[in-house]
Amino acid sequence: MLREVYQILLESYGEQNWWPAETPFEVCVGVLLTQNTAWRNVEKAISNLKGHKLLTPEGILECQKELLEELIRPAGFYRQKAKYLKNFCSYLVSSGGLENLKRKKLENLRNELLKLKGIGKETADSILLYALEKPVFVVDAYTKRLFYRLGILKTEKENYEKVRRIVEASFSRESDKLKIFKEFHALIVEHCKATCRKKPLCNSCCLLKLCRYVKI
Ligand code: SF4
Repeated sequence: MLREVYQILLESYGEQNWWPAETPFEVCVGVLLTQNTAWRNVEKAISNLKGHKLLTPEGILECQKELLEELIRPAGFYRQKAKYLKNFCSYLVSSGGLENLKRKKLENLRNELLKLKGIGKETADSILLYALEKPVFVVDAYTKRLFYRLGILKTEKENYEKVRRIVEASFSRESDKLKIFKEFHALIVEHCKATCRKKPLCNSCCLLKLCRYVKI
């Protein structure tokens, strides 16, 4: 069923080509800043960092705490996020940069990221998938809501790892898992923002024939 859901979403919305960023490092910064805030706020913060030529690991590490907080303020929770950014950049520099990290095995890398402050599973997997090109599926609240409504999950509060494993197992024989996982997550977000909202617009839903939840 998941493969069918993916195909229908892809045909309906087209390729999303996530993550919206100019460099893999910008992806990481965007992922760290987007926690608990809307993307437009992250864009303002990233634009501020670019304007001050600070969008590099070294730039963020050397930047004074107060200035960094001020620049990322639009993204909210700016004190906490400034610490998380500095922590992440420190890890990145001491590991020899993103290209070095890419050479590590997925599970080792994931465990290292999860040990960093401010990096939970969704954040770690977003960095792994969109910045480090590792074939891992990112689960978020939209994913759980949609899969629950489609009858794939028994509850919207399903365990993160269980959902991730269900999706990854469904595409285990695909040769292009990386591209599929990048697109599938982005398509789910798009679909849940446009149609399968909190109050779903089932009348105009491309997944109507597969759905058990339908509210018309
Ligand atoms: S039919 Fe309704 S509940 Fe089901 S996926 Fe579509 S919008 Fe969501």
